[in-house]
Amino acid sequence: MKIDRRDFCKVVVAGAATALSGGVAEARPPKELPPKAVGILYDATLCIGCKACEVGCKEANDMPMDHTSCAEQAHGVTGVWDAPDDLNSRTMNKIKAYAQGTAEVKDRPQDGYSFIKRACMHCVDPDCVSACPVSALTKDPVTGIVQYDPDACIGCRYCQLACPFNIPKFEYDKTFPKIVKCQMCAHLQAEGGIPACCEACPTGASLFGAVPDLLEEAHRRLTFKSGERQSYPIHSLDGGETRTAEVRGYYPKVYGETETGGTQYLMMAGVPFEHLGMPDLGSESRARLSETIQHGLYQGMMAPTLLLGGLVYAAYRNTHEDRMDPPEAPDGKASQAEEVPDD
Ligand code: SF4
Ligand code: SF4
Ligand code: SF4
Repeated sequence: MKIDRRDFCKVVVAGAATALSGGVAEARPPKELPPKAVGILYDATLCIGCKACEVGCKEANDMPMDHTSCAEQAHGVTGVWDAPDDLNSRTMNKIKAYAQGTAEVKDRPQDGYSFIKRACMHCVDPDCVSACPVSALTKDPVTGIVQYDPDACIGCRYCQLACPFNIPKFEYDKTFPKIVKCQMCAHLQAEGGIPACCEACPTGASLFGAVPDLLEEAHRRLTFKSGERQSYPIHSLDGGETRTAEVRGYYPKVYGETETGGTQYLMMAGVPFEHLGMPDLGSESRARLSETIQHGLYQGMMAPTLLLGGLVYAAYRNTHEDRMDPPEAPDGKASQAEEVPDD
């Protein structure tokens, strides 16, 4: 088989031109906070670990109770209620505890303890939405709530792999399983209510409001001095209810303000967030990064694909011409088909 040099050069030049004209894939712009974004500010220094928010969440979302596996294993008893130790397919909101050393003082990293409330962070640029191939997870363009459509879900669980906070859970024990995660009680908000966890919280540790206002409130708290008494809104930032409490001192950060492009669930605490199990993610949106790399890969594959196509075509043409060409005579001249004389 021979490859015509002119054809080969044409293909190489075409491939190079395609590669150059394609250039480097443009990074897509970061997603902005929606105009009426709502969220929750969780202040661990106000949390007393009563778990009223867990109960409120289950009631409002018709979630079944959890059972203790210890009692089942030890005594063969079934149906005994117990608090789950983490988020699961029956639990969308979980209060966890951090304890260090003697765990004597609340909201201190050394010989102290703290609570942390885990639920969906309602990311501004959510990885779960980016990963879902059928748009079963979407971000509301007005409120920013990351919502789930069970009818669209195909159960591939890409969202579970993509979420940097390990939030979506899958109903492995169901015949027709769904993904389970907090949807910020959108059904209650649609009727003028607030999320059940904020309604149930007696101390204001879980506070509902518009995200810019919650951020402003969080930064107001960061100016407080330990030991002074301050007024804290409870349930909802706009609800008008307040209580006075002693400031316990804050770790100087609002978790979620910048993490992975920002989240609508914001956190404050007295101890560093890495102690509370919150990942250090940086401020770059991971969804934006992965989509940019993905599109760059597709774009980068165009030139080699065209080059390969051109080579295959050139090879085909040469092979085809080889078959059609008459064999060469020993003297180098093309031999002529001999005429068979008529008898
Ligand atoms: S925390 Fe996870 S599940 Fe919730 S919006 Fe962000 S990526 Fe999605
Ligand atoms: S499991 Fe459902 S929600 Fe998750 S990625 Fe698949 S289709 Fe989307
Ligand atoms: S907003 Fe609603 S679903 Fe989400 S954690 Fe709070 S109570 Fe549960």
